[in-house]
Amino acid sequence: MLLGSDGQLRPTIFAEMSALAVSTGSINLGQGFPDEDGPAEVLEAAKRAITDGLNQYPPGIGMPVLREAIAAHQERFYGLSVDPDREVLVTAGATEALAATILALTEPGDEVVTLEPFYDAYGAMIALSGATHVTVRLHAPAFLPDHDELRAAITDRTRLILINNPHNPTGTMLPRETLQLIVELATKHEAVIVTDEVYEHLTFCAAHIPIATLEGARERTVTISSGGKTFNTTGWKVGWIVAPHEIVAAILAVKQFLTFVNGAPFQPAIAVGLALPDSFFTGIAAVLERKRDVLSAGLVAAGFEVTRPQGGYFVVADAAPLGFSNAEEFCRQLPTLAGVVGVPISAFVRGGADSEYRSLVRFAYCKREDVLAEAVSRLGALTR
Ligand code: PMP
Ligand code: GLN
Repeated sequence: MLLGSDGQLRPTIFAEMSALAVSTGSINLGQGFPDEDGPAEVLEAAKRAITDGLNQYPPGIGMPVLREAIAAHQERFYGLSVDPDREVLVTAGATEALAATILALTEPGDEVVTLEPFYDAYGAMIALSGATHVTVRLHAPAFLPDHDELRAAITDRTRLILINNPHNPTGTMLPRETLQLIVELATKHEAVIVTDEVYEHLTFCAAHIPIATLEGARERTVTISSGGKTFNTTGWKVGWIVAPHEIVAAILAVKQFLTFVNGAPFQPAIAVGLALPDSFFTGIAAVLERKRDVLSAGLVAAGFEVTRPQGGYFVVADAAPLGFSNAEEFCRQLPTLAGVVGVPISAFVRGGADSEYRSLVRFAYCKREDVLAEAVSRLGALTR
């Protein structure tokens, strides 16, 4: 767990497992980052921006060209009309967007409701803000929240309902009925909805439904996304927020003291990416879906039970059928046993090695197919 029982922040599980991958020469299916470059147009645009001298502080809310591209993207894909000058804020990745949002909108004692498992930064930022973290569990194998549990968790004490859709680590996409219930509960209890949609274009079965498109949601929703996943540029850290103007202003007040600004030459490059034709966006989802299938089939052949992710970078595999009931121990042994690194789901759960998620491991499939094939062949060692 990121926050120890002594309340101290610790290095993330991704850092620990990535170091283990390097020291053991293992294939790193732990941290979710692609091992191939994204579209050439985007990379070229960043090089051009550097050559053209876009190397100083950009405007605090982000360069106009990127804010306009974000607004145009929301309109083109989701029919949402967004004012690029008042309702968009560029951030240092989705991570800073999350941090600034949580710090800006909560006071100590407020409750923030998230799904559980949750992306580890949520727990850390909620703890740093002094708010109280309340969770609604996603139960295997469907990893969908129970509506009665949502109703019980969201109360007048709830300040933020923070969802992640498509979901890391489970690959779940929340159905429209669940999104509708969240909007209804947020309205009833006057909570703000914060939605982390960094995997919005990486979906396999159904189209992504931004919660902001539901009736009554727009005026109370902070939508967060990032160019990292869509354009294979996780190291550029260009993210953004789309929200009503007053909320953007409050978040900007915090953001200016976190990073102030970031990524000047990368901002126009991500703008180029957001304007790529539809075929680019459907293409990346199709490629990733094939990778999901290659790794999932390999995990099944190696003796794991796997669930079927509908979106995102990750597949959840149960190591119990292989005789490993504790995924944390299993993940520490896996580099030696098979030369592969995964991350225990307990890293995304309060209380750590909790029984319900105890034997579950997250593997990233956002890797080249030859790398996945090699990983699958190595995992075969577990049953040999
Ligand atoms: N939210 C989720 C659900 C993520 O998986 C990640 C990282 N992959 C982030 C936020 C952070 O995104 P960024 O790299 O843009 O800060
Ligand atoms: N979001 C990526 C993951 O879940 C990387 C996170 C990180 O390294 N902080 O693996």
